[in-house]
Amino acid sequence: MRPLFLALSLPILISHQPSATSDGAYEKLMDRVLAKAQAELQKTTKLRVVRPWATAWTTTSKYYVVKTTESYAQAKALAKSFDQMAPLIQGLIKPDFTWPHPMPVWIVPDVANYNQIGTSGDADAHSSNYASHFSQGSTGKPVVVLNQPNAQYVKILATHSLVHQFIDRAYPNSQARTWVQEGLCSYFSLYWDWKWGASELARYKKTNTLIPIRILLSRNIDSMGSKMDQHFIELGMFFNYMLHYREDTKSTTDGNKVQEGQFVDYIRNTLAGKNIGDHFIQKLIFRKTRDVEADFRAQKF
Ligand SMILES: [Zn+2]
Repeated sequence: MRPLFLALSLPILISHQPSATSDGAYEKLMDRVLAKAQAELQKTTKLRVVRPWATAWTTTSKYYVVKTTESYAQAKALAKSFDQMAPLIQGLIKPDFTWPHPMPVWIVPDVANYNQIGTSGDADAHSSNYASHFSQGSTGKPVVVLNQPNAQYVKILATHSLVHQFIDRAYPNSQARTWVQEGLCSYFSLYWDWKWGASELARYKKTNTLIPIRILLSRNIDSMGSKMDQHFIELGMFFNYMLHYREDTKSTTDGNKVQEGQFVDYIRNTLAGKNIGDHFIQKLIFRKTRDVEADFRAQKF
């Protein structure tokens, strides 16, 4: 077992490591992750004066308590954005859920804070490859995001983890598989920029690097490694396709009335731990994977 990385100059800590392999692939992956992290940090530190976390600004909105050291304006702007997102998350995942109280979101200024919070509990495994996680083991169960120069990217990163946080509240101890949970998180994070999601998907298609659906549906977080971002984008776009484009799975609106489709039904039942073995979606995506894949790849977003 390799030791944890403790160098504070790195913005990302590998707290859950991918399996070591005998051919050195893991070491190569680590080199790439660390080089990328170091470059990002150097870019960031030139632009920012980091304020101590103890003096962070906090703002409480209807759904969230946002804490950040960047500025009060950032806290307010993010809280406003997250409040727009919360009813969408709730509406799709569990409409009858009663929001207990504003939930914490911490935008931390540097890697020392990020690592400290990330490792004090059983942080989501993707905290190592993704600068945002839901810290389930920390007091108050905050979402923790490593601040970025790009405001849009902060929202995208945070929203991913807001969905993990919501699922934890709405369906405690849900045993739903990785693709369901990460797919939902990725879907809502792409809400901020569908154009970007679609252009990334088109780029993978053009370069013949698309991850096959059977892999998207079976891989756990530890085995995504350096392709985690791509997994998330493809999963998010796949959810978009199932929820809004594919005729036999999508939800539709008639005036103000939403007619919920098969995919929403499947997602809720899966999160609730119900038996989905005979569900239309289960049979469709696991027995007709190639047909679904061909149709998904042909979809124009
Ligand atoms: Zn996730």
